[in-house]
Amino acid sequence: MNTAWIISNGTLLDPASGRRATADLYIEDGLIVADRPSNAREIDATGLTVMPGLIDVHVHFREPGHEGAETIATGSRAAARGGFTTVVTMPNTRPAVDTPEQVRFQLERAAEANAVELRPSACITSERRGSELADLEALAQAGAVAFTDDGSTVANDALMQRAMEQAAKLDIPIMDHALDPVRAGKGVLHDGDAARRLNLPGIPSKAEDMIVARDIELAAATGCAMHIQHVTSGASARLIGQAAARGLPVTGEATPHHLALSDADITEDDGNFKMNPPLRSPNDREILIESVLSGDLSILATDHAPHLASLKAKGILKAPFGVVGLETAIGVTYQLLVVERGMAPLDWLRRWTEGPAALLGRPCPSLAAGAPADIVIADLATEWAVDPSEFLSLSGNTPFAGRLCRGRAVHTLKSGGITWSGVDTFSGL
Ligand SMILES: [Zn+2]
Repeated sequence: MNTAWIISNGTLLDPASGRRATADLYIEDGLIVADRPSNAREIDATGLTVMPGLIDVHVHFREPGHEGAETIATGSRAAARGGFTTVVTMPNTRPAVDTPEQVRFQLERAAEANAVELRPSACITSERRGSELADLEALAQAGAVAFTDDGSTVANDALMQRAMEQAAKLDIPIMDHALDPVRAGKGVLHDGDAARRLNLPGIPSKAEDMIVARDIELAAATGCAMHIQHVTSGASARLIGQAAARGLPVTGEATPHHLALSDADITEDDGNFKMNPPLRSPNDREILIESVLSGDLSILATDHAPHLASLKAKGILKAPFGVVGLETAIGVTYQLLVVERGMAPLDWLRRWTEGPAALLGRPCPSLAAGAPADIVIADLATEWAVDPSEFLSLSGNTPFAGRLCRGRAVHTLKSGGITWSGVDTFSGL
């Protein structure tokens, strides 16, 4: 792991300093260093972009309980291939991550895999049942970096308030899967055109908006950092932007699939277009894009949610919710936001680095000397097509098969060690 590197002639993109320049980058003993190291190996980054590794605050690695869909080791490798050096895992495993032992299990398995820095989130309530708070202090001491019952919200307002009071004292954010279970009912798609066309039950945007409004109120009342996961509704995105403008500790994330797709893209009964919350209307999608461009939504996150192909083949009504995203995240979002919508590459990078780091209480990822050598060297110029058979993830449930993208990781380094190198397998490089 202690190889010294000279990454030569790449375009450095540094979200901390705002610098964008062609230069060499030096790495020694796991850190970025100012002086050219001796006995270093060289990576020729001519034509490539050198950035701090991406941070994904929302992934599901399925271990323990559903290791056929993903394990901590395979998810970690998929993350590295996607250009990520840090991920936050969700606690809806079986058993759920609601005890210090389960938090430690996640950390131990990740250390064995040694491909990404895994930071576990832990449950707000025991077994994610929404009735009794987990021991948040013990979970924090074991290493949990956030609390969430992801997969469901904590519907009981008083219980959520108590959780937020405790989390505020621990200085740890709450992340909420903001969807009212009563309004969502047994819906499987957005309550809109596609659901009507396919005669499937809908999930109204109101189910999200009501909980987002409640969560903002609770953030104001408790001072607890509240992060809204996978924002889908335009109204919710606006509420979050307004709350942040008022100085409340409220943030929101957008996923690549909710930005790149809407329910208008669901043309047939394909389980790979089913996720929770669902793809919303084209109008919602447009507001989400504008919110990411403006920074009202300061975080991009994949909600990487692997499932067995056999389950996804059951069609939209019966398939489980969720799509994979780690290995298409750079390509889908760079293509959409930078190539098509003119976002500055540095701002795009900040949504994958500065925003998530701030949520975790970390400094902005940097290419300055002294910073950890968590680096992604990416080809942001060559067009490529998504082929799920290439994924290192155990699952290929993506709505993006065949999609043309720009941007993907060629090398990923974690603490100066190579965790992904695609130079032999990527044609044209
Ligand atoms: Zn969720």
